[in-house]
Amino acid sequence: MKQFFIILISFSTFISGCKYQKNNYTDQEVIQEIFTEALSNNEAYQNLKYLTSNFPKRLACYPQGIEAAKWTKQIMDNMQPDTVFLQEIQVMNWKRGNIEIAEIKNKKDKIPVNVCALGRGIATGDSGVEAKVVEVNGIDELKALSKDQVRGKIIFFNQAMDSNLENPFQAYGKAAGQRFVGPMLAAEYGAKGTVIRSLTTSIDTFPHTGTTQKAPADKTVPSVAIATQHADLLSKLLKQNPELTFYFKTNCKNLLDTTSYNTIGEITGTEYPDQYIVVGGHLDSWDNSPGAHDDGGGCMQSIEVLRIFKAIGYQPKHSIRAVMFMDEEISQGGGKTYASEAKRKAEKHIFAIESDRGVTKPIGFSFDANDEIIEKIKSWNTLFKPYNIEIFEKGGGGVDIGPLKQQGTPLAGLLTNPTHYFDWHHSANDTFNHIDKEDMQNGAAAMTALIYLIDKYGL
Ligand SMILES: [Zn+2]
Repeated sequence: MKQFFIILISFSTFISGCKYQKNNYTDQEVIQEIFTEALSNNEAYQNLKYLTSNFPKRLACYPQGIEAAKWTKQIMDNMQPDTVFLQEIQVMNWKRGNIEIAEIKNKKDKIPVNVCALGRGIATGDSGVEAKVVEVNGIDELKALSKDQVRGKIIFFNQAMDSNLENPFQAYGKAAGQRFVGPMLAAEYGAKGTVIRSLTTSIDTFPHTGTTQKAPADKTVPSVAIATQHADLLSKLLKQNPELTFYFKTNCKNLLDTTSYNTIGEITGTEYPDQYIVVGGHLDSWDNSPGAHDDGGGCMQSIEVLRIFKAIGYQPKHSIRAVMFMDEEISQGGGKTYASEAKRKAEKHIFAIESDRGVTKPIGFSFDANDEIIEKIKSWNTLFKPYNIEIFEKGGGGVDIGPLKQQGTPLAGLLTNPTHYFDWHHSANDTFNHIDKEDMQNGAAAMTALIYLIDKYGL
């Protein structure tokens, strides 16, 4: 029997009704109350500790992903919002199988290195893959080679994330092509496999996984991500001995699609119960990771938004939903199904915000909306200054809320300090000890404050 952290709500404030309307609270005062409440509470932080300890490696298609969804429903049930439910979804079904092995074979030395298979990728088979190595700095360098130079070799994509770029998300975007399309391109050139430098700016021994494009076995090749420290070693040894070989064995499988669940909790609006504001994150994590920053933290912040509204006794006019999307990492089944169900039920979504950039110190918001809406939201920015939340810019919302855009929903993403996010991202290093409680709670408060303003004034 698992022990749940019970979320206690102060009913004394809740039964007082809309005290904020009756007592002419200023927005400044309400927002101060939101931040004070967030910083005085421990539940989201403890719940994240529980989630990461008891449900690590929770890919949507894994049993622990489904157990995590049921547990999340339970903690929201305990909080007693108006509705809590699981929403059935279909997801791609990729399983890693046994842990991967790899080694650099350099003359008489066999040097073990840390690798992991890529999501949706194919396996090597029992005998593994061994070949000489061609190192390239990204997909353009591979395109410049002839098929004769590549045939039968292992392509080593060693493009590093550019640490000179101020925003690591930009650096990630620039280097991610080698992981996403690299294996298929390598297949086109007749390679036997690919080894891809992990997408992180830190030099360490954690392989960082991620998806690659799904393809039939004759259109792609077995591929692994290699830890940056070992990528540097391979590159150095290759310069000394271009004849060395690389061996790796992976055991992953692409199976038939399977069922998983989004988890949804809702406070029903007093004036517009059929109009929705969504705050969410994704509950699934990679299967080599506890998924603390990506994105257990964003999920616990989203639940915290509901808790804060209840705790301070604010009754929203619109329905507020905390949505723990499932399957962001592999096939985005959760976000797609949520949006299609919203359309089918004619649920008008007036705003959606996602926290999926790590739960470090909040610094602002990015908005995927028309200019008029962005200008309106920007006019509230002075209310956030006391909390050092200063960036209000046009940009992305989030992968999971993205499909709502087709229905005209304005989207936003919580921006947080990105400096160390990719040290942890998609690896075993994404652990609870890297979570700062105050930063996480401030992020939840920032989203609560923005939702409060949108609920009150509309968009
Ligand atoms: Zn994520």
